[in-house]
Amino acid sequence: MTTRAPSPYEDFGLLPIAGTRREGAAGRRLEVTNPFSGETLLEIAMADHADLDEAYQAAANAQRDWAATGPGERAAVMHRAVAIFDARKDEIIDWLVRESGSTLVKAAIEWGSARAITLEAAGMPSRSHGRVLPSDVPNKQSLVYRKPLGVVGVISPWNFPLHLSIRSVAPALALGNAVVLKPASDTPVTGGLLLARIFEEAGLPSGLLSVVVGAGSEIGDAFVEHPVPAFISFTGSTDVGRGIGRIASGGEHLKRVALELGGNSPFVVLADADLEAAVEAAVVGKFLHQGQICMAINRIIVEAPLLEAFTRRFVERVRALPVGDPAKPGTVVGPVINPRQLEGLRAKVARAKEEGAIVLLGGEPGGNVMPPHVFGGVTADMEIAREEIFGPLVGIQAARDAEHALELANGSEYGLSSAVFTGDVARGIAFARRVRAGMTHVNDMPVNDDYNAPFGGEKNSGLGRFNGDWALHEFTTDQWITVQTGPRPYPF
Ligand code: NAP
Ligand code: MG
Repeated sequence: MTTRAPSPYEDFGLLPIAGTRREGAAGRRLEVTNPFSGETLLEIAMADHADLDEAYQAAANAQRDWAATGPGERAAVMHRAVAIFDARKDEIIDWLVRESGSTLVKAAIEWGSARAITLEAAGMPSRSHGRVLPSDVPNKQSLVYRKPLGVVGVISPWNFPLHLSIRSVAPALALGNAVVLKPASDTPVTGGLLLARIFEEAGLPSGLLSVVVGAGSEIGDAFVEHPVPAFISFTGSTDVGRGIGRIASGGEHLKRVALELGGNSPFVVLADADLEAAVEAAVVGKFLHQGQICMAINRIIVEAPLLEAFTRRFVERVRALPVGDPAKPGTVVGPVINPRQLEGLRAKVARAKEEGAIVLLGGEPGGNVMPPHVFGGVTADMEIAREEIFGPLVGIQAARDAEHALELANGSEYGLSSAVFTGDVARGIAFARRVRAGMTHVNDMPVNDDYNAPFGGEKNSGLGRFNGDWALHEFTTDQWITVQTGPRPYPF
């Protein structure tokens, strides 16, 4: 028996707001383009403040009944969504390639992670439970109920739009919350509209998930300030995240916030490392999705005795990477998301040269495709080492010894992910424990995500943790309820 794929979703020009699908009321249209070909994929009538308010009010109403459903009902929606991910695999991958410039390899990884996150979320309703506490008060039952937060506002970036939206949307819904989602303006379909269709088809009750497509600079403040959401889950740049944190904790309506922000992952190769294994991990950890990943390798730090051999082999491997059309099987480095990002990368290349970095591999961009760049002789004070790159450029720094490598690795305002290669696992763990980062991988790349392990950063990489049990806590809150079941003494 062959199963035919369902007919593709259509009409992404309309926004799912408050249980209906309609045009946004801003009176302006967003043109969504393919970053490789420049082709216009669709136009969307954008949402304004009134749309946002309607979405939040409908979410608040719908959430009351949703929170009262049993765990089985919420789990079933997640399981049906997983089945839709399977049935629509090609359609989802195709959107990721066309809208976000994902290579086929990256799009398949993202499809797989979004599916895995949804499956993980299906287990959350029955794993979310409270406690009975001992009490010093006679005849007191002291109970802790775990309950949903209410309405969650989710803001996501364009680089892994489906993954980074569903990472919040699926657990939030599974645990009894309603969600209003604002995807990045470069990826409204894969970051939001597609997801809304999947959950609608999975039978999610009306009004529980709205998608507002609008510029962050226009509706962003209102999105965060609004009295309805109890929690804002933000993934994006550190600058924007700081502003959101300020509003959430300093505005009229206080709310919880999770900030998953920028990174500057160090990739440390100690002198006793397996050279080939380290090179393989460095190539993928740097160039997957053109380096546009928060966990991507931003600095390669190699202990002196291995520097020359590592550099030679790394450059040789990177030189051979297929560059160009992301829809073509085999392409490793596709386009960056938009011309503005490309300009930023060009400026970083120019600055690295000015500051004295040595170009080991370079080339001119064609369209939005930036060929991989490798710089040698990089020092910690150079911009390419200090700033998040978010593109297919990387610098190699020399470390005198392991202590120096650790000092360099920790010399950053960020602390998201990191990696160390060594032939001695015990030494690797000891090194890892001294790295100031939310995630450190020994003998693997920093781009790494398991859906039962805590994802998140330290320092300017943000606040909060996602995935598995950590999501159970992020998207719920405790309520302490006591019952006096008999007499108790009072102090007067
Ligand atoms: P961004 O510019 O901060 O945008 C992220 C999201 O915030 C977009 O939806 C954007 O909307 C919205 N936004 C912009 N200004 C806003 C405002 N004033 N108020 C509320 N929302 C606003 O980041 P990006 O360029 O899309 O993504 C790249 C950054 O994200 C990198 O720094 C990367 O490291 C970080 N990132 C972090 C993680 C993590 O988990 N730690 C994962 C992936 C990416 P518009 O598109 O409409 O402007
Ligand atoms: Mg685009």
